[in-house]
Amino acid sequence: MICALVLSGCGPYSKAEKAQLRADGVYLRAGGVYSQAKDCAHTDSVKKDTDPAYLVNKFYALPKGYEPNDLESIASVCTVGDTGCNSDELYLRKEANSAFQKMVKSGKKHVKIVAISGYRTYDYQLNLWTTNAQTYGQDYADAYFARAGQSEHNTGLAVDITFNDHPFNEIENYKGYNWILKNMHTYGFILRYPKEKEKVTRYNYESWHLRYVGKKVAKTCFEKNWTLEEYWGNQ
Ligand SMILES: [Zn+2]
Repeated sequence: MICALVLSGCGPYSKAEKAQLRADGVYLRAGGVYSQAKDCAHTDSVKKDTDPAYLVNKFYALPKGYEPNDLESIASVCTVGDTGCNSDELYLRKEANSAFQKMVKSGKKHVKIVAISGYRTYDYQLNLWTTNAQTYGQDYADAYFARAGQSEHNTGLAVDITFNDHPFNEIENYKGYNWILKNMHTYGFILRYPKEKEKVTRYNYESWHLRYVGKKVAKTCFEKNWTLEEYWGNQ
């Protein structure tokens, strides 16, 4: 999924971008504290994982070796590979998993949703980023991969999905995707990296990556068309 236009990456916000983000009421802020982080290599550290809406991004990283203590196996999984589904076990935190199962169940009439990726370990992300940085350079690695601790998949609150056996990176083109877009907030999920928010999230559009944030925050983000950065920036 290499796209020509690299919108993501780790460079610090420029002065103009900061001014624009402030003018929009948006600034990278979590728990009421403005981020002092300069770039991907110098992040602020996430302190608490109790609020399901807590922010993890290229400026707020999980501590080294972080692992949630309430991971559960996801029932509706399908690891999409060249040969179709296999049933490798995937994990989410308890609350996110139960919300995901509810969404899968009520979506059934419209879409058959399956998880293709859930929790990933700190070390998995470290290897992924390091391999790419060694092969293609740091800029490339930062544009396409989160550094260790900066991946939402490490939180156990993010899930990549597909439905009706469509290729996961094209699901936005298929009938039924609208049901997901319109309903996921009622189960506590948001589309974490929406189109046209790349400058705020620092990630390219990902139609398949959902983040559990709880019903209240999900509803607010849905109604105001906010990313999680914008949500925290407005608290
Ligand atoms: Zn993802």
